[in-house]
Amino acid sequence: MTYKMIVLMGGQGAGKGTHARRLIDEKGYKYVEAGAILRGLPTTSPVAQIMARGELVPDEDLFKIIGDAIQKVGASDMIVDGFPRTIGQAQWLVKQYSAKYDIHVLYLNLPEEIMLQRIQNRIREGVGRADDDNPETVRRRLDNFKKTTMPAVIWLQTAPGIKFSDVDVSEFEFESNYAKVCNALKITPKTATR
Ligand code: AMP
Repeated sequence: MTYKMIVLMGGQGAGKGTHARRLIDEKGYKYVEAGAILRGLPTTSPVAQIMARGELVPDEDLFKIIGDAIQKVGASDMIVDGFPRTIGQAQWLVKQYSAKYDIHVLYLNLPEEIMLQRIQNRIREGVGRADDDNPETVRRRLDNFKKTTMPAVIWLQTAPGIKFSDVDVSEFEFESNYAKVCNALKITPKTATR
């Protein structure tokens, strides 16, 4: 049996974490969350300093960290969130794992104005993260996404041996976006109770 690897890509405010948590809740997938693993490293580490500036951590560091996390999950369906973010990472993921897992990349697509609105909302509601607070850091992360991650998304659209779906998640209501994600994955969402 080949297990599923659902790869969530998208800019800030695309709802990668929220979608992931809901899918995990409903389907029991294992979770590999790049940002959370990196945030767990000591604050004095060079990686933590790179993250605080809103810059991308070097690919080589990610390969080791994500490779270990995927190995730990092993034989199970999983969601990978926040990785890949560069063409190098995308190519590495496909090369390492397309024979072992059914990889399905979901690009959570939304316009930049909505990304910015959602980050503002996160800050206002007090659920923002340390790297949401500084407008310069937010800007840098948006620019990184456009300049560095979008080329990876484009490469993955036609990459061999994987599935790719472009999912519009610009609706105001989370449930509407979640329904589209489930539709792309060909799974049935549970009726919202929250
Ligand atoms: P996230 O929680 O996914 O928004 O990630 C927070 C920060 O962790 C990013 O702004 C980057 O500094 C770093 N990071 C997370 N994932 C990656 C990745 N795949 N490649 C490089 N840096 C990453």
